[in-house]
Amino acid sequence: MPELPEVETVARQLRPLLIGRTVRSLRILDPLLRNGRTPRLGGRPIRGVRRSGKRVLLELGPAPGRSRPLCLAVHLRMTGRLIWRPSAGSVDHLRARFELDRGALLFVDMRRFGTFDWYPSAFAAAPTGIDPLAREFTARRLDALVDGTRQDAKAWLLRQDRLVGLGNIYASEILWASRLSPRREVRSLDRGERRRLHRAIRRILSRAIENCGTTFANFQDAHGVEGSYQRFLAVYGREGERCRRCGGAIRRIVQQQRSTFFCAACQR
Ligand SMILES: [Zn+2]
Repeated sequence: MPELPEVETVARQLRPLLIGRTVRSLRILDPLLRNGRTPRLGGRPIRGVRRSGKRVLLELGPAPGRSRPLCLAVHLRMTGRLIWRPSAGSVDHLRARFELDRGALLFVDMRRFGTFDWYPSAFAAAPTGIDPLAREFTARRLDALVDGTRQDAKAWLLRQDRLVGLGNIYASEILWASRLSPRREVRSLDRGERRRLHRAIRRILSRAIENCGTTFANFQDAHGVEGSYQRFLAVYGREGERCRRCGGAIRRIVQQQRSTFFCAACQR
């Protein structure tokens, strides 16, 4: 499932390709994607492409002489991909096709869990949680967010109403980098441990974005290329292998029906 770095990668790659283009038409081929009434897009300029939480936002201006701006939020879920194509051609699992004045934007999704949601603006599409890469996410803000919370660290990192965009892979990696056990109750973290956690969240996500995300099963970027951060994974998917920090064995446990990978020797 694409997490923050993968979605950020797609948004960054699409931005220079799409901004300034005009949409000629949108064809939705899969009825599951018709969420309410699909607006008419012909003549709308693409004004912005960005990530919001785990969704890609396409900000569309009004068509000439009428209508209001509009924002489409695309959630890739398990296998959704937004792919830019300079020319026509067929692809498998095509669910929607945006015809542009130059090229086309395709939404391809084998498992069909991806969604389209329409909003009047990007502001209206904003999630409730804070973005871990936003300037407002300071160490002090983290303190305020964890204070008094009786929840283990792994489950807390996955809560989208606190921090948006983290999933199973990066939660495990962040806890390893912070030397914290995924089972630690967050309210028990002392000041130094919270600082470590804050720094690790920013560092791991930034590094993953620099490497165009992680491809474990399905992720491909806007050009159909896989991410490369899987080379740097310290714990995720490494059960039974040696910890790169202390040589201990990486273990896998199940928390909230999902796998957590960690080193019991150096994560306390
Ligand atoms: Zn270790």
